[in-house]
Amino acid sequence: MAETSFNQKVASIKDNLRRVETRIAHAAERAGRARQDVQLVAVTKLVPLEVIQAGIEAGLRSFGENYPEQAAEKIAALQTDIDLTWHMIGHIQSRKTNTVCEYFDWVHSVDRIKIAKYLDRYALENERVMPILIEVNLSGEDSKFGWKAWDENNWLDLVPQFEKIAQMPNLEIRGLMCMPPLFDDPELTRPYYQRLGRLQGFLKEELPEISWRELSIGTSFDYEVAVEEGATMVRLGTSLFGPRPAR
Ligand SMILES: *Cc1c(COP(=O)(O)O)cnc(C)c1O
Repeated sequence: MAETSFNQKVASIKDNLRRVETRIAHAAERAGRARQDVQLVAVTKLVPLEVIQAGIEAGLRSFGENYPEQAAEKIAALQTDIDLTWHMIGHIQSRKTNTVCEYFDWVHSVDRIKIAKYLDRYALENERVMPILIEVNLSGEDSKFGWKAWDENNWLDLVPQFEKIAQMPNLEIRGLMCMPPLFDDPELTRPYYQRLGRLQGFLKEELPEISWRELSIGTSFDYEVAVEEGATMVRLGTSLFGPRPAR
């Protein structure tokens, strides 16, 4: 990327970031929450390396990626001294867990026991403890990953499974993640986030020794609603970088 176009990209990301920051701050204020309690994760799936570099220049420090191998290539190629945090937010195939453990600082998308087991094993090999979020499916859609949590009457069934993960020595549960259904109106995602809040309350009661503090919810489409409903991590791609190239 030529220098002028790089600088233009930095300026445009800075503009977007200012807009996003204002909207997060206002949403937090409306909910009586502190702005510092909401972390911005910049989603860079399919975003080229130069644009990530522009994002770093614009002040971004936390990034989210969906595809382990593409992410690993980008992370390895970045070669920066700036301290960055990488969040795995996409569905993980078991044969990719080693790559995930090697390159990522957080995993939001732990959606089954098998993946937790693999992550635990590779975290041990990499001599680290991996902070994770449990991904839940709150809508019952087949297209969504995550533990089946749409029926509140079945929440008790989840407890022993999460307990099992909590006992894995190289994983540390920090909270919950979910993707609501797609709507035309962001307001329609609110009931799902409220359900997630109730699940968080339920798990705090049932498994009080685990930290359920983090809620990774909200994309470019609905992050203000998510912040109003308790998001501690919003995952924003399009609103920072513009439309993504097709996969
Ligand atoms: C792509 C993606 C996002 C970001 O979506 P935008 O609409 O671009 O903000 C957030 N979360 C997950 C899990 C994603 O796959």
